[in-house]
Amino acid sequence: MSIRALKGFKDILPDEVGIWQRVEATARDIFHRFGFAEIKVPILEKTELFARSIGEATDIVEKEMYTFTDRNGESVTMRPEGTAAVLRAFIEHSLHAKLPVQKLYTVGPMFRHERPQKGRLRQFHQLSCEVLGSDLPRLDAEVIAMAWLLINELGITVSLEINSLGCPACRPLFKETLVKFLDERAGSLCEDCERRRHTNPLRVLDCKSAHCQEQYVDAPSILDHLCSGCRDHFGTVKESLAQLAIPFKINSFMVRGLDYYNRTTFELITDALGAQSAVGAGGRYDGLVEQLGGPSLPGIGFAMGMERLVLLLQQQEGQDNGPASDLFIAALGEEAQRIAFPILHGLRTNGLQAGMDIEGRSLKSQMKQAGRANAAYTLILGEEEMTKNIAILRDMSTRAQEEIPLPENLAEWCRGLAAKIKSNQC
Ligand code: ATP
Ligand code: MG
Repeated sequence: MSIRALKGFKDILPDEVGIWQRVEATARDIFHRFGFAEIKVPILEKTELFARSIGEATDIVEKEMYTFTDRNGESVTMRPEGTAAVLRAFIEHSLHAKLPVQKLYTVGPMFRHERPQKGRLRQFHQLSCEVLGSDLPRLDAEVIAMAWLLINELGITVSLEINSLGCPACRPLFKETLVKFLDERAGSLCEDCERRRHTNPLRVLDCKSAHCQEQYVDAPSILDHLCSGCRDHFGTVKESLAQLAIPFKINSFMVRGLDYYNRTTFELITDALGAQSAVGAGGRYDGLVEQLGGPSLPGIGFAMGMERLVLLLQQQEGQDNGPASDLFIAALGEEAQRIAFPILHGLRTNGLQAGMDIEGRSLKSQMKQAGRANAAYTLILGEEEMTKNIAILRDMSTRAQEEIPLPENLAEWCRGLAAKIKSNQC
């Protein structure tokens, strides 16, 4: 029996790769416009890094991490998200010494042992952005605006939800009020919420169970418990988003699954992917750099799920036909194949995306291949053409054909044909 990929691990096949590349290229372009620099960090880190940042009592750390002991007996983990590793690198290399505010992004695979379904995998990919060094609320709006612009330039429609989680000054009081509220409902909550009531009470608010959600309708709201500093901060975030004409909804139940967040959190939501509604999410994490042993610097970041972006684009646009090629050479018979071989290389050398059927199948089959390759032109070297010492250049969209003499000076001939095809395509 052949070996299959692991459950939740997916191959990205050639006919999907075009969309993936477009998502990544658009993201890089936008991140660049906003002054972000790329950083590449390892996939494997010490387990402690994630336990210390994401939080021991979170779903990710409790049940989703790919953790194992390596050959030296050290506990290591395949990164479940990007922020912790980027911050570790930021601290390790003292990147804060270079600029007052550092804007970093990273692109790559993340690993979480979840139940695989559409838009939820065990190896998935994130575009992950971090800004370190300022706690000003206008920066939160700038970061959200960048995520919003990316979604817009990709041509996807999502809604933006925002919340504030307060800070270490005001959150404990809210927690107390919430725990009191939950204590009154003890025994009537789902198993997860009963547990979280003690370990991580804020997390009950975004429980997916309809029964729990019904009970939380009149739960206390964090937004009524913010201290004046957090209230003003959130006020300016909202005002700045309005200045940029970015529509948002306030969702006081959005608590996020990672412990390190404070103040602003946000999610970009779609209703087109079933339960996998978050396309991107993020928030402020002012204490995290210090918690990881670095200087006391505030930060904010977000991550977008690339699988979900690609799924949305595929739903909108259908399968990608792949990039168009410039020319396909249909050469029939050994003599034609022999002449076509250096022509093919010469055209590629001159910048064309060119292909041919080296098996020299029938003309019908080769014309089909030219169509599949999405070729703009076909160069036909058939038996009749060979006797006349010519080739036929066929424009695949207009079907116009012209006869061109076979090369005497190969290099010059290829240069000329490549230039002609490029200029016709402009
Ligand atoms: P969800 O609520 O869908 O589990 P999350 O809150 O765990 O998301 P984050 O940790 O904030 O997600 O990660 C940011 C983004 O990464 C998500 O909005 C989503 O688009 C994507 N993402 C997270 N987990 C997965 C996964 N297992 N498979 C595919 N994409 C994912
Ligand atoms: Mg999750």
